[in-house]
Amino acid sequence: MIPGSFEYHRPSNLSEAVALLGSLDSDARLIAGGHSLIPMMKLRLAQPSHLIDLAAIAELKGVSLDGAEVVIGAMTTQHEVIGSDLLATHAPILRETAALIADPQVRYMGTIGGNAANGDPGNDMPALLMTLDAIYVLRGASGERRVAARDYYLGVYETAAQPGEILASIRIPTPLSGHGYAYEKLKRKIGDYATAAAAVVLTVAAGKIATCAIGLTNVADRPLLAKNAAAAVIGTALDKASVAKAVAEAEAIASPAEDGRGSAEYRTKMAGVMTARALARAFARATA
Ligand SMILES: Cc1cc2nc3c(=O)[nH]c(=O)nc-3n(C[C@H](O)[C@H](O)[C@H](O)COP(=O)(O)OP(=O)(O)OC[C@H]3O[C@@H](n4cnc5c(N)ncnc54)[C@H](O)[C@@H]3O)c2cc1C
Repeated sequence: MIPGSFEYHRPSNLSEAVALLGSLDSDARLIAGGHSLIPMMKLRLAQPSHLIDLAAIAELKGVSLDGAEVVIGAMTTQHEVIGSDLLATHAPILRETAALIADPQVRYMGTIGGNAANGDPGNDMPALLMTLDAIYVLRGASGERRVAARDYYLGVYETAAQPGEILASIRIPTPLSGHGYAYEKLKRKIGDYATAAAAVVLTVAAGKIATCAIGLTNVADRPLLAKNAAAAVIGTALDKASVAKAVAEAEAIASPAEDGRGSAEYRTKMAGVMTARALARAFARATA
């Protein structure tokens, strides 16, 4: 199918984009890389009357360090996330996760902001950004607002963003040096969304897990922070019993729909398997 007709706008700065979004019909949509929105438009599941392209807004691009936080502009592509030396040093799990998204063609165009703002539980960045305790910086007509990634996702395509707000950047507290991390994603083939995936970021002190956060992708109507699963391994050396408890806690909060990737029961079990694998790899990295 081809999309319905729309008017195209290409603002050159963020203030102009915010003003445009506020002045146009309520079905005006922002477009970043277009790799979630355009497929929806081709299926006529989205029929915006106006498209506001963020591609020419330089202030939405790039990765920088601001004190103890990494700041990633919303229009930074997934390809640029993978290639960023700064991210490789300070938050390498972002690179590991971005490399598991789709294929190079999608990653050249798709942006971290589009992936985070989209509200599709199949997107990989949201659960990871919750695990990293990222903050989303939103710009609207009344100025800037910050929302924790952990408070942002309310349901399928339902987020805490208010009408007229644009995700400008994502701020991530740099994990402690020597931290362990892993993103484990089960998919049917290259370019597929996750059957289930788990992100783990942890630190180890005196051989035991001191801090841990776990996020789950595509096993509910929104990305999940598996708090009880993380609590189950804190204070342990990741022995068998604590892993089993974490797996059970991850499975307990998963409520995936049955789809082409498997039954709800299978995908729930895979949430547990991905959790166990990500914990093992993160722990090994932290203790290497
Ligand atoms: C074949 C294929 C396979 C894919 N596989 C995966 C996968 O495995 N994992 C995965 O995570 N993703 C996958 N994707 C999606 C891809 O990563 C998208 O690029 C991403 O989800 C959206 O980013 P985008 O920049 O393309 O956003 P767009 O498609 O342009 O926008 C998506 C939505 O976010 C809104 N939006 C965009 N930018 C902003 C902003 N700055 N502020 C507020 N709202 C904004 C738009 O209005 C729209 O509603 C796949 C896509 C394709 C085509």
